[in-house]
Amino acid sequence: MLVELRGVTVRYGGLTAVDDLDLTVESGQHVAVIGPSGAGKSTIIRLLNATVAPTSGSVRVLDAELAGASARALRAVQRRIGTVHQQFHLVGELQVVHNVNAGRLAEWSLWRSLTSLLRPRDVPTARAALDRVGLADRTTQRTSTLSGGEQQRVAIARVLVQRPALVLADEPVASLDPARGAEIVALLHEVCRESGATLLSSLHDVELARRGFDRVIGVREGRVRFDTAPDRLTTTMTDALYELAPTPHRPEPGPGPGPPTGRRC
Ligand code: ADP
Repeated sequence: MLVELRGVTVRYGGLTAVDDLDLTVESGQHVAVIGPSGAGKSTIIRLLNATVAPTSGSVRVLDAELAGASARALRAVQRRIGTVHQQFHLVGELQVVHNVNAGRLAEWSLWRSLTSLLRPRDVPTARAALDRVGLADRTTQRTSTLSGGEQQRVAIARVLVQRPALVLADEPVASLDPARGAEIVALLHEVCRESGATLLSSLHDVELARRGFDRVIGVREGRVRFDTAPDRLTTTMTDALYELAPTPHRPEPGPGPGPPTGRRC
């Protein structure tokens, strides 16, 4: 198993974001996690890239137990995990090549990382990654001048140069229009299949979750509600997943004690 969560709970103060969750992912699988806003999808992704620690339970990723691990051990695992974010997490003022090279920072020394900001290092590797995502001609362009879809491609190029075993994507298309979103999910599938990386992505869009993924996991209130092959996902399942919480029952006004007596509440 590449990912193994057992009995994992995450509490933020009094709020339970993930509730006694069990989840396993095999190496090479592509898994979509869907569910309403606040279901705990981002928290699951943050557990897996070790940016959130579980309140209780076991989080094993890439053969390492993350719960209670040292900062050094966490960094070693984080090096092998690439994350794509909804808001891209790029530095807009920098040229594209620097944002791609950010994927090498864990591998490079501090000196190499700093001098690379003055004169980019290993440009051929960055350019090959940009070529793969269709942006070979944008190496020196200021990142903020790219469209949203292009910026997400840069973020994918940054993951490519990192060569991770596990790619996590946290609502990677939520900031994009539907056509650009479908392209980005397709690209994530392609680059992960090419490299053999495992992919776990949270998604808002159920239709995208049906395309190219091996499994679709429905999460609500921090718990797994279903874990199924995409072709077995029914509208009954998704309707129940996204259903609004019932409003508290209010008793119908009965015959009552008669007209108000004028007493103020
Ligand atoms: P999703 O990604 O499905 O929208 P999240 O994992 O972001 O869900 O959030 C799950 C719950 O945890 C929500 O109620 C959210 O408000 C809460 N939450 C998330 N992060 C924090 C935090 N850092 N501090 C307090 N509450 C948080």
